[in-house]
Amino acid sequence: MKKYRTAFLLFLVFETLAVVLWQLKDSLFLLFNFSYIGVCLGLGSALTTARKRFARLFVQLTVGSYILVFLGLICHENMQIEGFWFYLFSGVVGAGTLHYAIAKIFGPLFFGRGWCGYACWTAMILDLLPYKLPQGPRKRIGYIRYIVFALSLILVVVLFLMGEATPSVMFRLFIFGNIVYYVVGIALAIAFHDNRAFCKYICPITIFLKPMSYYSLLRIRYDKDKCIRCGKCLEVCPMDVEVTNDSRNRQNATECILCHNCTRVCPAKALK
Ligand code: SF4
Ligand code: SF4
Repeated sequence: MKKYRTAFLLFLVFETLAVVLWQLKDSLFLLFNFSYIGVCLGLGSALTTARKRFARLFVQLTVGSYILVFLGLICHENMQIEGFWFYLFSGVVGAGTLHYAIAKIFGPLFFGRGWCGYACWTAMILDLLPYKLPQGPRKRIGYIRYIVFALSLILVVVLFLMGEATPSVMFRLFIFGNIVYYVVGIALAIAFHDNRAFCKYICPITIFLKPMSYYSLLRIRYDKDKCIRCGKCLEVCPMDVEVTNDSRNRQNATECILCHNCTRVCPAKALK
């Protein structure tokens, strides 16, 4: 049972959050919301520990589609970055700000880019495409993410200045933004033969995720003494992480999505 400690801890963290927010905000919805996410993450982590190949897909589908369909399409919450700006500028602790604070700003100090690997509803679809391993070297177009980040901020500021920053406008923006993300994400995956091209070059959220996940508590550790230098781990990494280097400064260190492809193929158990 000891090996399932992380799964239980993950569940416990979210359950505690659920109870605290329920009491603070007097909201049964927050109790349900974070309990549901905690159960899915805990189960997913337990399945990963049990080396079930479908573990990550299970979490992606249960959490990713819950956020997209239930919170986004049914509850009309804008869960994209524009929704975060909207709630932030409105001074409201709403779905967007809570979601960003937990999954994308402070949470990555503990679980790094776990969001990208397990809960992002854009990556959930992109990961189903056939280009699971990147072909060829990285393109030098990572600057696009800064442009997208700035544009999203400017767009919401302009909406506020025009007096058009309303929940219904934000909901329409959510629908439009998701269509654009899926179209661009799929087109890039096909063009670069890389399912995760969108995450590497376009996604504005990485502006928050990258610096925070640098300090992540949870990370893939490499044991140089056990390694037989077969290179298998490097071949299966979808994010081009230099995992055969234990330093936090390893190449693309802040892009690891904790998919555990590398730990699964390592014949020497040098990664964990
Ligand atoms: S293969 Fe390993 S290093 Fe690469 S993203 Fe997955 S967990 Fe991280
Ligand atoms: S798969 Fe394991 S043994 Fe092979 S290079 Fe990577 S860490 Fe070393």
